[in-house]
Amino acid sequence: MADSRDAIEDIRHRLGILDVVSEYVALKRAGKNYKGLCPFHSEKTPSFTVSDEFQTWHCFGCGEHGDVFSFLMKVENLTFAEALERLAKRAGVELERFQGRQTGRKELLGRINSLAAAYYSELLKRTPVAMDYLRSRGLSDQTIEQFRLGYAAPAWDGFVRFATRKNADLKDVAQAGLIIRNDRGGYYDRFRHRIVFPILDIQERIIGFGGRALGDEQPKYLNSPETPLFSKTRSLYGLNLARKSIAESGSAVVVEGYMDVITAHQAGFPNCVATLGTALTLEHINVLSRYTKKVVLAYDSDSAGMAAALRGASMFEEVECDVRIARLPGGDDPDSLLREGRISEFDAALSGALPIVDYKLAILRERHDLSDPSGRAAMLNEAVLVLVEVPSSIEREKHIRALARYHPNFEQGTTRAEEHIRGDIERLVRRRSGQGRGRSPAGDVPKPSSALEKAERSVLRVLVRGEEGVETILESLTPEDFSGEVTRGAAHIVFEILKEKKGIYLPDLLEIADKKDVGGFLSELAMRDEGPPFSEKALQDYIALIENSRLRELRTSDVLAAYMKDGTIDPSDWRRGQTAEDYEEFLRKSGKRAEADD
Ligand SMILES: [Zn+2]
Repeated sequence: MADSRDAIEDIRHRLGILDVVSEYVALKRAGKNYKGLCPFHSEKTPSFTVSDEFQTWHCFGCGEHGDVFSFLMKVENLTFAEALERLAKRAGVELERFQGRQTGRKELLGRINSLAAAYYSELLKRTPVAMDYLRSRGLSDQTIEQFRLGYAAPAWDGFVRFATRKNADLKDVAQAGLIIRNDRGGYYDRFRHRIVFPILDIQERIIGFGGRALGDEQPKYLNSPETPLFSKTRSLYGLNLARKSIAESGSAVVVEGYMDVITAHQAGFPNCVATLGTALTLEHINVLSRYTKKVVLAYDSDSAGMAAALRGASMFEEVECDVRIARLPGGDDPDSLLREGRISEFDAALSGALPIVDYKLAILRERHDLSDPSGRAAMLNEAVLVLVEVPSSIEREKHIRALARYHPNFEQGTTRAEEHIRGDIERLVRRRSGQGRGRSPAGDVPKPSSALEKAERSVLRVLVRGEEGVETILESLTPEDFSGEVTRGAAHIVFEILKEKKGIYLPDLLEIADKKDVGGFLSELAMRDEGPPFSEKALQDYIALIENSRLRELRTSDVLAAYMKDGTIDPSDWRRGQTAEDYEEFLRKSGKRAEADD
């Protein structure tokens, strides 16, 4: 709404972020910016940065960022409406006509959800069969209370009638996803005969619900639909309770289900969170990496769980998180393990969690019969394909040493065996770099992807800061030319704004970008002091690098399209930019062609 926009702009201009922030944080000038100790996480050296130029703040420690409104909301724990009211008063801005429609809508849906949570919780207390079920799953009354668990009765209209009695507009209740409209214009309950798990965001707002069938009803798990308040692809169950301990312990554990989270918290692992019946998305990862860069994935030990863990882990690795995968005992998930009181086993699985490469190699060793020479050879063949992806030669050597004992030449000496394995890897590396991909056998030069990443970041930095060269970039590139998921997402937003307006106003940009979960990235880009603007030549080089990589990618994907179409390969298995030959080699050596059917 124009009114609210005007009021917000007006307040921002009149107040100035430095005045407001310096009431809470002692700020010292550092270059163009101001620095102080972050009020949102504990630290000894200042990484909390405020820019008078951009009217924004960014913490390089915890990743929190925003404008004057979000600062006050966080530091005083206010809703947006409350922060707005306070700052308006202080700035002397008239708010009479202001009622942010979207804010109002979300608050309304939040209130309806709170009403529902109270209703379900009350029903749970009055329904022994539901209470017994939760106790049989090992949950204490305190845990049930802490997670605000509830129960939805089998009736079709239990909540419909309750909401009507409370004078709620059923259209709103339906938008909150709690009831569904039928053909005749009436409504019925979405959650019936289910345990209900309220999903809270980090402001402790109830944004949606998960429901687990108590009987044989299908589906076993049912979530709220997407609403203006709730998005499955970015919400993490339990983060509201876990974030403090994540910040304190410096690491997070990601599990697969609600029950995993709840049992883990109860068993003394309060830094656990879960996705809501979806695979990890980049949005989840961005949310979580604001709190920590150390993540352990503790997924089910079945093959689907292992594949999901590997996919998730490589996404975390892409945003430079220290990610590890826990290996739970066969057939177990965190919930089953902890329910049986095998707490130390879970603990050991977490502390013994492996980085991706170690994890892949461990799985290979398990899958093949190593007592048999042909099993050992097959394992080594696949291990070489894993190791060729390891950029650090030091790390690669470590694995080569560990693998040497499985090589047929081992009896003639460790060195001979190691040499053979190293030779296999180097041959593969040479073949790939011969195809123009520049991967060095020594391995310690920067990967092409990181040069590309730097180019993409640099170009975006110019756009966001409004440095020399904005026009050139807009003429030469489109958002689709960006290869990183984060950089491409950010580019879409930035290009869009620059097409409509002359320049970037950072607080506005961040507001839009935060919804797409690239706000942290752009905020950091704008605020990090990375020296003077780029020369024209440097900028041209960056643009050329991005353009060339895009061309190469288009060519590669043409060749691969057929493989992907018939399902022989899963594109998400392998990194962007691998060639068709790489895939063929992989399929041939791993025998995946035969396995592709199962
Ligand atoms: Zn911080």
